[in-house]
Amino acid sequence: MSERSGRCLCGAVHFTLTREPLATRICWCRDCQHLAANGSVNLMVDSDALQITGEVKGYVKTADSGNQITRQFCPACGTQLFARSSARPQFAVVRAGNLDDPSSIRPTMNIWASSAPKWACLDPQLERIEQQPQPPKAPAAAT
Ligand SMILES: [Zn+2]
Ligand SMILES: [Zn+2]
Repeated sequence: MSERSGRCLCGAVHFTLTREPLATRICWCRDCQHLAANGSVNLMVDSDALQITGEVKGYVKTADSGNQITRQFCPACGTQLFARSSARPQFAVVRAGNLDDPSSIRPTMNIWASSAPKWACLDPQLERIEQQPQPPKAPAAAT
């Protein structure tokens, strides 16, 4: 089992991932562009594999899918840290830039590629999904 750690910009929030991410994607949806100024590299993880210390605040927005997305951030420095969907409470999204070692993960696909800016650099080696991908299948051990 590999364990990863990370923190927000000011260090008030720390987190630990106790299991491997289920998926690692670069998301080009318009919401992620607002948060990241570019594509956002996101880890999809089991909610119970994410341990958070410190206070986070949440901002809730309804996605195009109709699901309620809660984006969690550090109230002191504003760093976007996590996201959770009302439709899939078993998963959490972790913003990869906050990992202590961002090189320890490798994105496998670009998602919402249809809304990427014309100047965006999308690696043609990666799988390209125009909009929302299927959610990862929960590992059997998690049921
Ligand atoms: Zn902070
Ligand atoms: Zn997105």
